[in-house]
Amino acid sequence: MEQPISVTRSNFNDWMVPVFAPANFIPVRGEGSRIWDQENKEYIDFAGGIAVNALGHAHPVAVNALTEQATKLWHVGNGYTNEPVLRLAKQLTENTFADKVFFCNSGAEANEAALKLARKVGLDSGVAGKSGIVAFNNAFHGRTLFTVSAGGQPKYSQDFAPLPNGINHVAFNDLEAAKAVINEQTCAVIVEPIQGEGGVIPADIEFLKGLRALCDEFGALLIFDEVQTGVGRTGALYAYMNSGVIPDVLTTAKALGGGFPVGAMLTTDKFAPHFSVGTHGTTYGGNPLASAVAGAVFEFINTLEVLEGVKHRHQYFIDALNKLNAEYPIFEEIRGQGLLIGCVLKAEYAGKAKDITTWAGEEGLLALIAGPNVVRFTPSLIIPEQDIDEGIARLKRALAKLAK
Ligand SMILES: *Cc1c(COP(=O)(O)O)cnc(C)c1O
Repeated sequence: MEQPISVTRSNFNDWMVPVFAPANFIPVRGEGSRIWDQENKEYIDFAGGIAVNALGHAHPVAVNALTEQATKLWHVGNGYTNEPVLRLAKQLTENTFADKVFFCNSGAEANEAALKLARKVGLDSGVAGKSGIVAFNNAFHGRTLFTVSAGGQPKYSQDFAPLPNGINHVAFNDLEAAKAVINEQTCAVIVEPIQGEGGVIPADIEFLKGLRALCDEFGALLIFDEVQTGVGRTGALYAYMNSGVIPDVLTTAKALGGGFPVGAMLTTDKFAPHFSVGTHGTTYGGNPLASAVAGAVFEFINTLEVLEGVKHRHQYFIDALNKLNAEYPIFEEIRGQGLLIGCVLKAEYAGKAKDITTWAGEEGLLALIAGPNVVRFTPSLIIPEQDIDEGIARLKRALAKLAK
């Protein structure tokens, strides 16, 4: 066999559009919650591909689903339906509030579909100007122009003006502020049950209940962006199940494919018909390969054993982090649900989150940030306790550098 072309990290700077600044090593192989780079150095994976690799790396359930489907049928286009996508739709509707599913390939596309559906429902309502969208400061909904505009971090959207009109941002967890902007002209409220990219900030249950009531009062769709919180991440199948608040639309991606790109927008029989034939679409969305993998990953995660395991690991993780913080007191607060955990740096270490993840990499640990002041962990939902222990030991060595 011919040798593959030899590449190094510096080639990233040679050939890649510089929107990312990846770490200075290249992962080449993974198994469970461990990864190896080109030099065969081992890393514990507390990042999970940003809340994506829910079963870790190369899990046999995902590998088997992928390879089995790969020999059968990859893609036919949406002029034909396929068996894996129908099975996945059955799983998603049977296990959630939803009656209908639209499949796509990413979180941004799922939110794009949700916001477009809301605009269409608003138009079809006959209420003049019912196109307003209410979103929250600091939110993250993806990078398409519509979703980045719905997101609440102007630094991601302002360079791409003119932006879509009619999106109003108010403070997260501030029901009075939301009440002041939701009215008859509102077609949707979009919210993350836990702001992930924004710093791992859980929504108050009373806030979500209040949004539900306001949406009911003014005939607006309540959209839960569960791209990061979904598919077991919080210990519930979806985070809305922890709050008892049922949305009209839910978006899911990231962990859904366990590493294979797939996204979905879930909704009810009341709203789905507004997306009639031809009003929205996608080439790859719902393709057999992605659907087969997602079906297997979803089935594996949606068991009491795995979901309870997430809650157990949450406590195990939090205990270990608290112990670490007693030794190196640099975190102000450790928060989050399940295996979506954010460690907020004390004021004196403000802005150091990125340095910590860089030093963690040197010590053999993959970790994430959520803004400049929060170190974030979103490991595999089935990470073994011994890997948590080893990862925390490596984090400790990284924190020792900060303390110096
Ligand atoms: C990651 C994320 C998205 C965007 O998903 P992509 O697959 O990157 O498009 C949207 N919303 C939330 C809450 C996310 O965490």
